Amino acid sequence: MSDNQSKPDSSSARCPSCFSSRMESFYTVGNIPTNSCLLFETRQEAIDWPRRDLVLGFCEDCGFVANINYDPTIQKYSSGYEESQGASPRFNAFLTSLIESWLGKYDLGGKDIVEVGCGKGDFLIQFCRTGGCNGIGIDPTYDPVRQEADLPENVRFIQDFYSPKYADLPCDAITCRHTLEHIGPTGKFMQMIHDAIGEKPGTLALWEVPDAGRVLQEGAFWDIYYEHCSYFSPGSLARLFRQTGFEPIELELDFDDQYILLVGKVANGQPAPETPLALEDDLAAMKQAVEKFSATCPAAIEKWQEAITQATDAGKKVAIWGSGSKCVAFLTTLGIDEQVGCIVDISPYRHGKFMPGTGHRIENPEVLTDFRPDMVIMMNPIYRQEISADLKKMGLGPELLAV
Ligand SMILES: [Zn+2]
Repeated sequence: MSDNQSKPDSSSARCPSCFSSRMESFYTVGNIPTNSCLLFETRQEAIDWPRRDLVLGFCEDCGFVANINYDPTIQKYSSGYEESQGASPRFNAFLTSLIESWLGKYDLGGKDIVEVGCGKGDFLIQFCRTGGCNGIGIDPTYDPVRQEADLPENVRFIQDFYSPKYADLPCDAITCRHTLEHIGPTGKFMQMIHDAIGEKPGTLALWEVPDAGRVLQEGAFWDIYYEHCSYFSPGSLARLFRQTGFEPIELELDFDDQYILLVGKVANGQPAPETPLALEDDLAAMKQAVEKFSATCPAAIEKWQEAITQATDAGKKVAIWGSGSKCVAFLTTLGIDEQVGCIVDISPYRHGKFMPGTGHRIENPEVLTDFRPDMVIMMNPIYRQEISADLKKMGLGPELLAV
């Protein structure tokens, strides 16, 4: 058990999704940075960023997992926030196929689309270009400078959090991708969205979040960080939809089963039908996954601490490929810092910036030609082919490990 691992200081809470009081804590990681996507101009700022403890609780009634210690007042979402994954061909291929699938299946060509939490707007722009749709994206981290040169005239952005004041925006479908996991009061948030579009029954809701079932099953502690206060399984997300007046229509996993895709529609003022979709019945499986995670996670943490320490003790140079939240969580959970000599990322928006937590400077992968790593740790195995090919092009053949 590292210094970062300690016993939970609060053991139970009310579930922010279903409001049950049966939410019990099962995992704590102490003193981690409260933001992991925010990038900094100096190492000192990155190291000095506020830290808090994370305490995960599991709701026995709806299967939802949340940081029961979460303090939303400390979060910062601004245009310095860099969540974009748009530089990877593998990720772009996923987005393209998702857009074609949603446009085709739900006949959304030419329709009005609102995106809540649109980030830098890449998805909405591509969606509207492909489908000839009218798009409005809402996000406090939207950066007008980045898109202005190439912004289609049928797409506009609002730099703000979504709230009931946007209820009157034209909207045939509302989409929310990789946003709900950043929201603490999930039940209230979904109810607010439902109430905002409530007078237009049939409006589609297209949702995407990471799958916490996989994170727990795989002991993926690098996927657990302060910015993600809410962790869904397919079933807990669908139950939240039903509870807040949406009828789930389609529920599936994609991106190597890392992401949950849920499409629902505003139920016509009636309670949603109780017929569950195939992936919905997962309450017992989630309970098991939580138990498995509690039992195996300490050993997984120790295994990585040893692997990196042994390598550096033997004089080997260790690099990490991928500087996003997973990397911040990986290093801050392990309590590992300067043993990792170099962190690279293919996103040009990250180069030269400093990562919260350890304060590493994020480099262009090209620097590895000079750094000559003996070991490269990939923060997502889905990019193995891309990373192997890039290393080969640089004439490098380090030991390649994936979390
Ligand atoms: Zn619950």
